[in-house]
Amino acid sequence: MTALPVIAIDGPAASGKGTLARRIAQALGFAHLDTGRLYRAVGLAVLRRGEDPADPAAAQRAVEALDLSLLEDPELRTDRTGGAASKVAAIQAVRDALLDFQRNFAAHPPGGKGAVLDGRDIGTVICPDATVKLFVTAAPEIRARRRHLELKNQGSARTEDQVLNDIHTRDARDSGRTVAPLRQADDATLLDTTHLDIEAAVARALEIVRAGLRT
Ligand code: C5P
Repeated sequence: MTALPVIAIDGPAASGKGTLARRIAQALGFAHLDTGRLYRAVGLAVLRRGEDPADPAAAQRAVEALDLSLLEDPELRTDRTGGAASKVAAIQAVRDALLDFQRNFAAHPPGGKGAVLDGRDIGTVICPDATVKLFVTAAPEIRARRRHLELKNQGSARTEDQVLNDIHTRDARDSGRTVAPLRQADDATLLDTTHLDIEAAVARALEIVRAGLRT
């Protein structure tokens, strides 16, 4: 049996990779896994137990007892949960516990056509043999502006400066950690969305992906 196509999309917080991944999956009829939700669910579980997400023992207990219904929890998208996610994500035992779930999704995607996974280490660690790899980025100020708008629409009172600060902190933690740091895979195509609106970014991403699927 030949392996199904896998599209790996990595990039920093609020780069637009999630929207791109969703739109690419829709266009191709592939299944989509937003792997950030897994780390967010673990981070949220630790917070709800009143424990510290940076404590390896607490994070390990949470990932071992992970309730998958948390993946649909409305609190998953808050910046507090995002901050906790980036702390538990720096712990090797947490990454190891989530590895099989992600690889299994890539190898046996629902629908049986192909998979799109987005995250920080899909092209480097989870699916190093992915058919197409995209690394999506944008200037921090632009990412902060987009994220601020999104949060404002959800009723959040955080200022754009505070959001920019959160983004810098999360970038530093995600890129500076020793386990599976955020970095562009050598064979990934870079897509900088700083000067692209969402439709232009989707069109460019689809061009790259379709070209990669043909080769
Ligand atoms: O992409 P999202 O902002 O939802 O991810 C939340 C956090 O989960 C990130 O800041 C990162 O630390 C972690 N993460 C990761 N590896 C992935 C996906 C997310 O380390 N594949």
